[in-house]
Amino acid sequence: MSLHSDNQRAAFRLLPAVDDVLKEVEALPLAERVDREVLASFVREMVEAWRSEIVAGKLDETQLEGRLSGGGVQRFLERRVRVELGAGIVPVVNATGVVLHTGLGRAPVHSEVADSMAVAARSYCVLEVSRESGKRNRRDDRLSDLLTRLTGAEAGIAVNNCAAAVVLCLQSFAGDQRETVLSRGELVEIGGSFRMPDVMERAGTVLREVGTTNRTRASDYERAITEKTGLLLKVHTSNFRVEGFTEELDTEGLAGLGEKHGIRTVYDLGAGLLECAGATPLGFLGDEPLVRESVSSGLDAVTFSGDKLLGGPQAGLIVGKRDAIDALRANPLYRALRLDKVALAGLEKTLSLHLAGRADEIPSREMMLRPEAQLELAASALAERLGALNGLTATVAADQSQPGSGSAPGVFLDTFVVRVTHSDYSAEQLSSRLRHGSPPVFCRIQDDVVLLDPRTLLDGDRERLLSAFENLSRGDVG
Ligand SMILES: *Cc1c(COP(=O)(O)O)cnc(C)c1O
Repeated sequence: MSLHSDNQRAAFRLLPAVDDVLKEVEALPLAERVDREVLASFVREMVEAWRSEIVAGKLDETQLEGRLSGGGVQRFLERRVRVELGAGIVPVVNATGVVLHTGLGRAPVHSEVADSMAVAARSYCVLEVSRESGKRNRRDDRLSDLLTRLTGAEAGIAVNNCAAAVVLCLQSFAGDQRETVLSRGELVEIGGSFRMPDVMERAGTVLREVGTTNRTRASDYERAITEKTGLLLKVHTSNFRVEGFTEELDTEGLAGLGEKHGIRTVYDLGAGLLECAGATPLGFLGDEPLVRESVSSGLDAVTFSGDKLLGGPQAGLIVGKRDAIDALRANPLYRALRLDKVALAGLEKTLSLHLAGRADEIPSREMMLRPEAQLELAASALAERLGALNGLTATVAADQSQPGSGSAPGVFLDTFVVRVTHSDYSAEQLSSRLRHGSPPVFCRIQDDVVLLDPRTLLDGDRERLLSAFENLSRGDVG
């Protein structure tokens, strides 16, 4: 008994041999755009995909015949070559209105920050050596100084991201199966499967939940403290909000408890709002905790991201008491989580901008602070240009942008968007073509209409956006 029907066997016989296809397509222009080996792998991929379709009963002999004679090979390979050439980290136009868009790389850095990063990348630099003594020193001494001035903490340290900062604190202060006390109201999941209980398990600490989802008091923490307790942790519930009958222990209360019992205290802030002199306060963020205030309440350490409200490269910053930071640095795990020279150079420059009172120049802050009148003008100008293109209808409407990256749930920023419809495509089709376009554009879809939010357009993006729309008709994306 064969596993396959007669029709399937007939279809299998029609499947072309990889070498035959290669010989045919090597003369085509698409073959010049990728290596021969890569092209061969695409042909194998195609034949395998078609074989699976036959096995699944989704492709019969007649259909396959039609595909082969109707240019199916070329269509498959052209699409595959295009995907290959557009893969990887490619600059895009962010027209979503989500300022700190994790999928689009969070904070675009200040041009001076980008320059520092580029210079550090392509040259030797003073990383772990003292210019005074010529001897080895620590790579983030300068960063620690800048963090100290910015936040009022005694010392600071930087790691790969805020998630790493939390792991380092958990492992250093409460690893080896000691206990971490955390309120049930703060057992959060941060985007991308960073779930507090799971992270704790991996960091080798035992979670000791206290209180309830909506109310946790000092007495709840106090009752949970035993000789096994290593850490009292507080996590900013940055991506959701509990409203109504709520109570939580404030940072002074937590720091006081830690001091009384000789137990480390850490506050994971996530977003990390600084509000330095010379910077316009981000009042719309509501009760987002300030780094400086959290530090001054006497906690051992406070953790926050480099690429959220700070507006710099990806990093996790930890500031706090000197002995706590020294203990983190002494953990061998720090060696695995530390930053490279490029990120450090970018962070130093970003912190310097904050210190120099130039924070409002940092792109993510500038975008969040963009005045409505300016956005309305930008939307109108854009709508006018887009409306003049073939097949497009563009109108301006009031709408809302978002700070993004899980910071500030329920915070929306009033904006004006361009609502675009295309005579030939649905909103989904239009947005797919824009994503694949040149340059790629990411937008928002609402009620089956494509929305373009000028809030997240950077210098030069308007012209890039227009050329993406002009190039639309030339693409062949399905
Ligand atoms: C965003 C966030 C993190 C993770 O930060 P990354 O820099 O993305 O690793 C951790 N904790 C809180 C409270 C956050 O909001």
